[in-house]
Amino acid sequence: MESLIMDAAKRAAEYLNGLDNRRVGPSPESLIGLSKFNQPLQDDPIAPESVLQELDTLGSPATVASTGGRYFGFVTGGSLPAAMAANILASAWDQNAVLGISSPTASALEKVSREWLNSLLGLAPTTEVGFVSGATMANFTGLAAARHALLDAQGWDVESKGLFGAPSIEVIVGNEVHVSLLKALSLLGFGRERVVRVPVDAQGRINAAAFPVIHEPAIVCLQAGNVNTGAFDPLEEICSKVRSANTWVHVDGAFGLWAAASPSTRHLIKGLEKADSLATDAHKWLNVHYDSGLVFVKDKRHLNAAMSASAAYLLEGETRDPHLFVPEMSRRGRGIEIWAALRSLGRKGLAELIDRCCAHAQRMAKELSTAGFEILNDVVLNQVLVSFGSPELTRSVITGIQRDGVCWCGGTEWQGRTAMRISVSSWATTDEDIDKSLESIIRVAGDAKKSG
Ligand SMILES: *Cc1c(COP(=O)(O)O)cnc(C)c1O
Repeated sequence: MESLIMDAAKRAAEYLNGLDNRRVGPSPESLIGLSKFNQPLQDDPIAPESVLQELDTLGSPATVASTGGRYFGFVTGGSLPAAMAANILASAWDQNAVLGISSPTASALEKVSREWLNSLLGLAPTTEVGFVSGATMANFTGLAAARHALLDAQGWDVESKGLFGAPSIEVIVGNEVHVSLLKALSLLGFGRERVVRVPVDAQGRINAAAFPVIHEPAIVCLQAGNVNTGAFDPLEEICSKVRSANTWVHVDGAFGLWAAASPSTRHLIKGLEKADSLATDAHKWLNVHYDSGLVFVKDKRHLNAAMSASAAYLLEGETRDPHLFVPEMSRRGRGIEIWAALRSLGRKGLAELIDRCCAHAQRMAKELSTAGFEILNDVVLNQVLVSFGSPELTRSVITGIQRDGVCWCGGTEWQGRTAMRISVSSWATTDEDIDKSLESIIRVAGDAKKSG
């Protein structure tokens, strides 16, 4: 076993060491190489060493180097060294984080991470936290707690009776709501289209003045960090408008919630402690492994009631039973890497990580603007939208940058404009990475412009 694990560790280290000198997107040849995986399953067992070698030889080159410092696609964090090392050890542990008794360590690490997270984000210490697979599930879980709370107040037991015949709940979203929140609404029986959409401004923020009169009971879904612009809905203003026992405020802060962890960005998310539930990703800006997300619910009774497998009301005992706060039963201990990330960073390290990414984004925007390209958003956080001219030209520049391989940025549509999106979300990104990436972007865009 030991030599196999050392071999795996050696290959992993070689992979990580090689990130600086390889292209970010996989080469066409390495993608063709993936076809070698297509074999009929053989009859006889194969030694694990050979399996690992095959995986590394064919799989590693065809990975996207998103854990390196020059991947700016979607909103993708890397993996902090402590989180990665913890993940390797946790693989050896193979814990089932369903109950405290099935994994005392996973349970204890969730418990302490919950305390740290509430304190870092400025939430009440009684706020309950569920460790889920990502922001989609965090949105789902927070909205399930909302559904329980509002229907319970109407005397309707939704967990037992379902939604058919239940009192109606109005759902309000901003016009730039993330698709995953609509998906969560659809999974919960609210329907993607059965929502009231509120107009937004040029940054995608809900226009508080245009906020409609609410028909209670209602769920108001706000956003902290628009996936394109990084902009925040005016949480405080809307929360003070809609406060009532029959209204639940849910905030999708998949990456933007982490703004609360730095004194220099905290003002952007003022009022977050007023929300009833919050969703975020740990695999984005906290830089832990996929997959990892967090849901925060102010009144834990509603979360418990929505997530309990039995109708019996379960209270947390001495040890924390993780399944009481999430949709799954058997699950991996995601709190392990979250604990390791927070422990290694400390408050200052996390704030510096947030600030550093924001500063890199500022620099990208400034230098691309100086080079004559249009920045479409106010760069308030870590997201930058660039237009290189016509939609066709912008699209061909994006393809050219991906082919160049120095960095990786994706495309998006922003309020009718075609744009390239740069998201700086990784602990690994250095000033030198930004230098190299800017050189590639400006060169490729210049060439594309010349060739028309
Ligand atoms: C990424 C993102 C999500 C979805 O998160 P997953 O981790 O992919 O489930 C939801 N909302 C926003 C604003 C996001 O940026």
